Amino acid sequence: MLHAVLTIDDIASKNTPALVDYLTEQGIPAILFGLGQNIERNYQEAIYALQRGFIIGNHTYSHPGCSGLSMDEVVEEIEHCEEVLNRLYRDAGAERVWRPFRFPYGDKGGDKKDAIQQYLKDHGFHKVKDTQITYPWWKERGLDRDIDTFWTYGFREYDIRPGNPYKPEDVMRDMDDPHPTDSVPLFDEGAHHLLLLHAHDETEAMWPGYYRVMLGHLLDRGVVFDPPEFID
Ligand SMILES: [Zn+2]
Repeated sequence: MLHAVLTIDDIASKNTPALVDYLTEQGIPAILFGLGQNIERNYQEAIYALQRGFIIGNHTYSHPGCSGLSMDEVVEEIEHCEEVLNRLYRDAGAERVWRPFRFPYGDKGGDKKDAIQQYLKDHGFHKVKDTQITYPWWKERGLDRDIDTFWTYGFREYDIRPGNPYKPEDVMRDMDDPHPTDSVPLFDEGAHHLLLLHAHDETEAMWPGYYRVMLGHLLDRGVVFDPPEFID
């Protein structure tokens, strides 16, 4: 048996309601990570997701690489997104109980890493439960202590762009690769994954219904999607 908690980044997009409908239809829980500026652009689409019971976490306002910013700038990015999220939850009539955070690009801020983790801890962000993850590198890299939400396996579907040689069949091939060079295998019997997918309209334009094909493949292979839990 293979378990997974699904996370979806860069919410919201025009396609978010269709994605949310698919997840609901299939009974796949997920944490959505919202980018402040994308929520402002696609506000009703983000409200739609909240009203269907999904959690939207903080993914900064404008998606910077945090190691290139000062501490003040990092805080500004996070707080600006917090303002957007607080307004969104209010307008959706949804209660904001859990506040997970994800760094853009997984960039934990370089020499500011400890300071940012302390900031997240002091400002009420919640750690997604990861005690089920048994990969030794998860602990070796200190990911079991970090407050932000990292991942065990990231899909590269966002790389499907005009002019890029990476194609849908490459995504599917990579998913089935038993010995990938730069990650753990996706179909790793007995594993507990934290999966990372994106909600990009650009991907939908290049590969309509990409999430149906990808997540459908996981369902076919017997992956159990667990509801996210948090460590208080
Ligand atoms: Zn992102």
